[in-house]
Amino acid sequence: MSISLLDLDLDGMTAFCEQLGEKRFRATQLFRWIHQRGASDFDQMTDLAKSLREKLKGRAHVAALPVVQEHVSADGTIKWLFDVGGGNAVETVFIPEDDRATLCLSSQAGCAVGCRFCSTGHQGFSRNLTAGEIVAQLWFAEHQLRARRGTSERVISNIVMMGMGEPLQNYGALVPALRTMLDDHAYGLSRRRVTVSTSGVVPMIDRLAQDCPVALAVSLHAPEDPLRDNLVPLNRKYPLAELLGACRRYLDHAPRDFITFEYCMLDGVNDQPEHARELIALVTGAAGMPAVPCKLNLIPFNPFPASGLRRSPPAAVAAFARLLSDAGIVTTVRKTRGDDIDAACGQLAGDVQDRTRVGERMAKLRTIPIKPVA
Ligand code: SAH
Ligand code: SF4
Repeated sequence: MSISLLDLDLDGMTAFCEQLGEKRFRATQLFRWIHQRGASDFDQMTDLAKSLREKLKGRAHVAALPVVQEHVSADGTIKWLFDVGGGNAVETVFIPEDDRATLCLSSQAGCAVGCRFCSTGHQGFSRNLTAGEIVAQLWFAEHQLRARRGTSERVISNIVMMGMGEPLQNYGALVPALRTMLDDHAYGLSRRRVTVSTSGVVPMIDRLAQDCPVALAVSLHAPEDPLRDNLVPLNRKYPLAELLGACRRYLDHAPRDFITFEYCMLDGVNDQPEHARELIALVTGAAGMPAVPCKLNLIPFNPFPASGLRRSPPAAVAAFARLLSDAGIVTTVRKTRGDDIDAACGQLAGDVQDRTRVGERMAKLRTIPIKPVA
């Protein structure tokens, strides 16, 4: 059986080379060819012995994901939809800014958490992505963008695991994928520039602290358990006190000295001044839960019909942000990027209602020609 090399972190690649009876340093060479130079054809890898290249051809491959669709927004945001088979597609979003360029990756096709405000959640869960499918999104975007820009310089400076899926419910694939992102022989990103976003899978937050501590974002969305139970059903299993405890513990290992809390602003649901006051009490420990040094990231809700929810008016967001800032909590309101292409993270499509619809949409998408690589 042929193995997809994108599935392997450097340790995995080393073990694979040893299995082939090759020296360990061949793993580094392979890793560099694939991740630093974007090669997928073993014949390109000219400093590998011809005998090794032949051996590799029979046993390994670099499995790129087929692009189903590409959207380029007026503000430079690019969204790709990748086919992962079985009628499932996942999205990857590239967000260029002045001082950084962020890639938002998916970790699952669908999601089992089922948050009320999330179109991925409304689709239900299809399957976990493999480590190779997570890395393939980065591999493609990085090398595609370099080719278009005619550069061999690194394009992507930051990764956020904020696309489709709950990364900490796909832990086995997440960790090798993160290790490849961080590896100096691959993408060489610092731990501070790789962010895992989670709805709060408490035991896995503790494991991530041990196995691969990167920056952590926690999707909070509510300052008290009954409301959070309703918006993020996982809260029933891991309520706020446990979640904040895990955040506190994580900070002992984290590359940053704060946790980013994400808070999706929903009109009349969680955006009132009393919610802001409860939130301040919550994160500062005044509500009797573990205090967590944090930054607050307010996200304007990206509406879709099946949610039955509305985006908070700008004035409500501003007032909410003001209350938090006045309490000394660093608060940012996330810019909506790529609005014209529906590229908010977690938004495969505004009108996705169930898995069958994804299939229909995919069928339509297939008929749209993909822009050729420049
Ligand atoms: N499952 C992880 C990561 C993917 S979702 C998590 O929940 O954290 C990434 C972010 O997008 C989360 O903060 C999520 O709450 C947010 N999000 C989901 N649907 C959204 C929507 N319709 N509008 C705005 N933000 C949304
Ligand atoms: Fe899953 Fe995150 Fe969407 Fe919740 S917000 S359903 S955890 S992808």
